[in-house]
Amino acid sequence: MAAATGTLSIDLAAVRSNWLMVRQALGKSPAAVIKADAYGLGAKVLGNTLYRQGCRDFFFATLPEAQAARSYLPHDSNLFILGGVPYGAERECINGRLVPVLSSVQAIERWGAICDEADVVSPSAVKIDTGMTRLGISLEEWVALMERPGLLQACHPAMFMSHLACADEADHPMNREQLARFTGVARAAKARFPRSRCSLANSAGIFLGSDWHFDLARPGACLYGFDPHWGQQPHMAPVVTLELPILQIRELTQSSSVGYGATACLPAGRRLAVAAGGYADGLNRTIGREGGYGYLSGQRVPVVGRISMDTTVFDITGAELPIRGPAKIQVLGASLTVAEISHRTGALGYEVLTSLAGRYEREYLNRDG
Ligand SMILES: *Cc1c(COP(=O)(O)O)cnc(C)c1O
Repeated sequence: MAAATGTLSIDLAAVRSNWLMVRQALGKSPAAVIKADAYGLGAKVLGNTLYRQGCRDFFFATLPEAQAARSYLPHDSNLFILGGVPYGAERECINGRLVPVLSSVQAIERWGAICDEADVVSPSAVKIDTGMTRLGISLEEWVALMERPGLLQACHPAMFMSHLACADEADHPMNREQLARFTGVARAAKARFPRSRCSLANSAGIFLGSDWHFDLARPGACLYGFDPHWGQQPHMAPVVTLELPILQIRELTQSSSVGYGATACLPAGRRLAVAAGGYADGLNRTIGREGGYGYLSGQRVPVVGRISMDTTVFDITGAELPIRGPAKIQVLGASLTVAEISHRTGALGYEVLTSLAGRYEREYLNRDG
């Protein structure tokens, strides 16, 4: 059957190898951050693939994401909710054995009270803000909490964590500042709760060095093939390939403007391909608004004019069309990586990946069971 939409191929062997590379760098198993449906690549398949490699800690953004995972990940997986537990949903969290990340003193009090009331020991993670100024209790609140050990005890903290603001800039002074603050937090936390784990690093944080590793690293991006420090070692294996089927090929018999706004004009003799996939499929992020290109049979083909909602036009003059099978233009893959696109367009690699959730047919390569 001819695919009417693009095909997003996800190489599970590459995901496995990236996770193992991170494990090697850490000397212990990292978690896997599979929020936002594993950055658009499919949390169920990727979560299970990584479980089979030995991963047991999985991070989600929301309660529904983690609840869904309770039904598809094996029983002994630890499922964390980065956004915490919504008011009134505490029992659901407890019943699902989901671990909320508590980011305010009120959230800590509330989780403690609910656990007391339900007479359960349901672990939580406590997040401390060491400089990101997003989620987390402030250092002043942390110091005050240390004076009230009963309150912390009541919320059964199994993890103390923080998040780096500038880890993708290896030389940014913020990295050391946050490290120093979190080291203090971790020391105090371990003294009170010796069995708790401490966690600071995301993907980029892992490659800052072992000081940043603590007990558990929380990579997302690098598992999905996005190099945290582009152009430097280490290189993650590319995971995603995106190919757009060609809907129509046209030869220009006279000079013509192409697309909305008639922003591009090409002379007679050029050969154009209209490919399926447009900005509704996230291609303004993937291809970029200017200077975008793809590959047809290994040859670079530039985008012409503006990307439409459902289609994108490429100048394929001189490129060979496959003799057999449908012609497809690759816009993401081993020779056009997420990091390269991000470098060229200024879109974050995260935006490129999460914008892939559109109308693509997903295909998983190299399944392991
Ligand atoms: C998303 C997220 C991560 C993963 O970050 P990557 O840069 O994708 O590795 C880790 N920790 C927290 C708190 C996050 O929100």
